[in-house]
Amino acid sequence: MNPILGSHVGMSGKDMMLDSVKEAISYSADTFMLYTGAPQNTKRKELDQLNIRPAWECMQNNGIDSFVVHAPYIINLANTVNPATYEIAVEFLALEIERTIAMGSQILILHPGSHVGAGTEAGIDRIAQGLNEVLTADQDCLIALETMAGKGSEIGRNFEELAAIFDKVTHSDKLRICMDTCHLHDSGYDIVNDFDGIIDQFDQLIGKENIALFHINDSKNERGACKDRHANIGTGYIGTDALRYIVHHPGFLHLPKILETPYIPSLTDSDKKVAPYKEEIALLRSRT
Ligand code: FE
Ligand code: FE
Ligand code: ZN
Repeated sequence: MNPILGSHVGMSGKDMMLDSVKEAISYSADTFMLYTGAPQNTKRKELDQLNIRPAWECMQNNGIDSFVVHAPYIINLANTVNPATYEIAVEFLALEIERTIAMGSQILILHPGSHVGAGTEAGIDRIAQGLNEVLTADQDCLIALETMAGKGSEIGRNFEELAAIFDKVTHSDKLRICMDTCHLHDSGYDIVNDFDGIIDQFDQLIGKENIALFHINDSKNERGACKDRHANIGTGYIGTDALRYIVHHPGFLHLPKILETPYIPSLTDSDKKVAPYKEEIALLRSRT
């Protein structure tokens, strides 16, 4: 079995989701990740404008059988300081779950949130409360909480914090984890030299069967820097070898691996930035 590789793609062209699929195909990807609109805001188009059916036809004709959705960053379920932020987050998350299902995905990736000064415990309680408001027993969509770099007051910087959320959520069978390699490295986990040891730690706290996908990114900073600055594959502190090891790991071959590396200057026009995904997917797919 070959790894299932893809990248973040846009959804802003006139053909909306069909454009997302075509972008993924242009990278020779097996899967992809999209935001249902701008990641920084909650403005969203109606479902009937997303071109979902033609997008799926195009996927099926090109061997792509699933994709994942990322919730916008502005959703902050951990906010106990400003009740309006929390309420907007819960409301919007419920809509994102609906959109994810309508678009034909079963995985919605969510940053747990930032406690903005109230402390980790308060933040975790509020996140669990929010998830309990939106998760139902018969829901077709899983929420994959992302491992975070630990910048600012981010929650989810270690497996203990994520485990605490699982413990407090009633329908925790609807929760999964998105392992982001840059974030794991930035938060201090030595995935370069001890990926299997890190997975063992995770397994004891949350269970490795709860990993739904990986974000494959290099990091611009040293391990433990808590910075969250993604680097192109092979240009950062994690390196191609360690990332290939994760991508080809037999325990996780069936899981999607999504690149979120930065755009790079075009070779033909240095004022222009282009997506690195076709080359980086090829680099990771090969073993040497
Ligand atoms: Fe993310
Ligand atoms: Fe990520
Ligand atoms: Zn990141």
